[in-house]
Amino acid sequence: MKNKDLHKKLSLKWRRTKIIATLGPSSNTEADIEKLIQMGVDVFRLNMSHGDHEQHEAVFKLVRKVSNKQNKHVGILMDLCGPKLRVGKFKDASIALKANQKVIISCAKKVGDDGLIISQYKNLYKDVKKDERIFLDDGNLELKVVSVKNDKKEVVCKVVYGGVLKENKGMNFPDSKISISSFTAKDKRDMGLAIKLGADFVALSFVRGPKDVQALKNHIKKASANIPIIAKIEKPEAVASIDEILKVSYGIMIARGDLGIELPAERVPLIQRELVDRARYLHRPVIVATQMMESMITNSRPTRAEVGDVANAALSSADAVMLSAETASGKYPVKAVQTMDCVLREMENYQWERNNFGEAIVDINKIGDMPSERKAIAHAVGALAQDLKLQGIIVPTRSGTTAKVLSANRPSSPLLGVCSDELICRRMSLHWGVVPFNIEEKTTHDWNKLCKKISDQCQLTQTGHTVLLVSGFNDDPALSQPVMKIIRV
Ligand code: PEP
Repeated sequence: MKNKDLHKKLSLKWRRTKIIATLGPSSNTEADIEKLIQMGVDVFRLNMSHGDHEQHEAVFKLVRKVSNKQNKHVGILMDLCGPKLRVGKFKDASIALKANQKVIISCAKKVGDDGLIISQYKNLYKDVKKDERIFLDDGNLELKVVSVKNDKKEVVCKVVYGGVLKENKGMNFPDSKISISSFTAKDKRDMGLAIKLGADFVALSFVRGPKDVQALKNHIKKASANIPIIAKIEKPEAVASIDEILKVSYGIMIARGDLGIELPAERVPLIQRELVDRARYLHRPVIVATQMMESMITNSRPTRAEVGDVANAALSSADAVMLSAETASGKYPVKAVQTMDCVLREMENYQWERNNFGEAIVDINKIGDMPSERKAIAHAVGALAQDLKLQGIIVPTRSGTTAKVLSANRPSSPLLGVCSDELICRRMSLHWGVVPFNIEEKTTHDWNKLCKKISDQCQLTQTGHTVLLVSGFNDDPALSQPVMKIIRV
């Protein structure tokens, strides 16, 4: 058998781990978006750190147009940039910093020069203290605070690791308590656009605790909108209060770029594992982000280490993996998605053959207050899928809740999330293993007919085989009436 045929035979019909691709100048034409969806993008990310509203609106509408044309339920995640602290302008666009040199960060002056950096955040001098570290440009350069001059609004620093510092580069303060709100005036304007366009998800950057997420939730509610919030975990404070953040968020993104600067990078891999487990425990989708295929920004092949990183995310049961500059501004956006898809499928074929898609979520025991009925049913569905080698679990759902809860248990059979609401179908596209299936409301009531129709349409089983139908979870316990039914199709 030729390699290609063997692969085809082994390959699963549906990839379980979802792919998020960031759109940008390398990928935002109709033709690009068409190819990216064909290659398997499940959710597109619009990064509000770049571009203006007019550009984002045009790209948003293109995604909707192309996904409708291809009859795919593709979600759109608008990523609010939050209080990313940056250096200001330099007289000559950049300065060189040498180890042990004294450098001043000014919150008062307008333009930087040799030995002078401008902070765009004007209260910085109030938040940092002697001996704290300041990282510049993704942590490539490092300063140490020597003293703070309140009267001049200046922070005097010594360069620890030098290099060339270009204007507008990011600053991180791993040792300081920065008091700026995580929902800025720009975020408010960007949120206005997300509400106007009807984004499927918004991501909130630099979340420190549940209050940050709650503030955005209140803002959305006040605008009579309903957009799920993905909390970006990139601060040590957020890792410390992850359970409280998970409880108020729709899902989380492990934003390893900033997280690996704010915390020692060697801590990130285990934090990633822990966050995936905790998110699954609370039935929240979890995204692993940043530098997954970084070298493909310029090269047509990833490094072996990058392949290992994507594989590890799949094996550890993340819901989704994300591409940033690889698809937004890289040379090979389509190839990056295709490569990621191949790596994920390779891992999932291995798991499929072993009839096991990840460790069962053990009772982490520290969170404790999830309704046990759901857990028990999700566990039973997982066991049935494994024992009966079910070809499909069909989940008629109004809000997506039943599909989400079952997905968190990572059953080995594909979950067909059947819903008459296109918005819910797009939301389900983020969840591990859920295949959104849009159907007219009236068709959902006769479950036998529904299962037959879906099985035929998706070529799930041959006549006489069985699928499992699960329905009826509701966030309000009084309305929750779970049902499981084995149906012969
Ligand atoms: C990150 O820091 O890893 C991240 C995803 O955030 P952003 O790309 O918005 O800086």
